[in-house]
Amino acid sequence: MPKAQETVLEIDLKALKHNFEFLKSKLQKNTKFLAVVKAFAYGSDAAQIASYLQNLDVDYFAVAYVSEGIELRHSGITKPILVLHPQEINFKEIIDHCLEPSLYNAKVLNKFIKIAAAEKQTNYPVHIKFNTGLNRLGFGKNDVDGVSYKLKETNAVKVKSIFSHLAASEDLDEKIFTQNQIESFKKIADIFTKAIGYKPMLHICNTSGILNYPDAHFDMVRSGIGLYGFGNSEKENKNFKPIATLKTIISQIHHIEKGESIGYNRAYKSDAFLKTATLPIGHADGIGRQYGNGKGFVTINGQKAPIIGNVCMDMIMVNITNIDCKEGDEVIVFGKNTTANTFAATANTISYEIITAISQRVKRLILK
Ligand SMILES: *Cc1c(COP(=O)(O)O)cnc(C)c1O
Repeated sequence: MPKAQETVLEIDLKALKHNFEFLKSKLQKNTKFLAVVKAFAYGSDAAQIASYLQNLDVDYFAVAYVSEGIELRHSGITKPILVLHPQEINFKEIIDHCLEPSLYNAKVLNKFIKIAAAEKQTNYPVHIKFNTGLNRLGFGKNDVDGVSYKLKETNAVKVKSIFSHLAASEDLDEKIFTQNQIESFKKIADIFTKAIGYKPMLHICNTSGILNYPDAHFDMVRSGIGLYGFGNSEKENKNFKPIATLKTIISQIHHIEKGESIGYNRAYKSDAFLKTATLPIGHADGIGRQYGNGKGFVTINGQKAPIIGNVCMDMIMVNITNIDCKEGDEVIVFGKNTTANTFAATANTISYEIITAISQRVKRLILK
């Protein structure tokens, strides 16, 4: 691996392949795999990740917003793309870019049908989202009749899948709740399928669902975090390889005397001699202020260097008093040893948040 000469996020496609193959090994042969590549493929690089996965046997992609789907189309992604959370204003663009909307309430369902009809579409693929307990997006079980009635009235759209989302698939203390969600999804799917008279695909599992609920894979599973190298428990994490390594470099070393202060607001005041290193990465790069003042740490030549004082917009200072290092040395923020999960935990958050927070200012470096 190249030594960092500035702040970079390295993306290891071999690790991605490993994670994909591990997840695939948990599925029945004909279960389809949807790769969730929303939010820049969880902060990595959606175009690169999707292009790579498109050449493995991924069946489907999902993004949250329409703009993300359009980006993928512009990068040459031809496989189906489900847009999980579109708005009415996006519907014309959805059709123009052959994206497939998740329709989650009567308002968007009616509007999409109207636009698809006006665009002279027939059997335009749509996905119907049902809420089975997360209480975030989706029709309720009492909407099944209304939705199927509406769908039978038109040939502008055709239901490609019906799906739901688990609220606590990672938490085995909530097994009963999750099983109730799965049962409720089955019931809805049953009634709905009979009412519309054909069989759309069914899917409900995210990464932890894939691992914890093998009987609920249905026709397709949707994985995000697992592809990027994380499960939702220590046990799950062992099977995955984090794909992203955030690296930076020491710009400058300072020798601080007792009584001096470090950084904005003089947040750290030294009570003894110490050595600090200034690094070109700050909250504008995704390292939030909550990592400052001794919480987060980086690794320099194998040793832990805690962030000292407040996180600045473009810099952090770290304590290197007992570390043998020099200006220009490489610094690891997170990667394969100190994982994003461990780093996130120092500020009481989770891998999902820190990896998607790495801003677009940080250069992505793809390792093939
Ligand atoms: C983000 C998302 C996923 C992926 O979940 P992971 O826990 O990252 O695997 C799956 N389904 C929906 C609806 C999502 O919003």
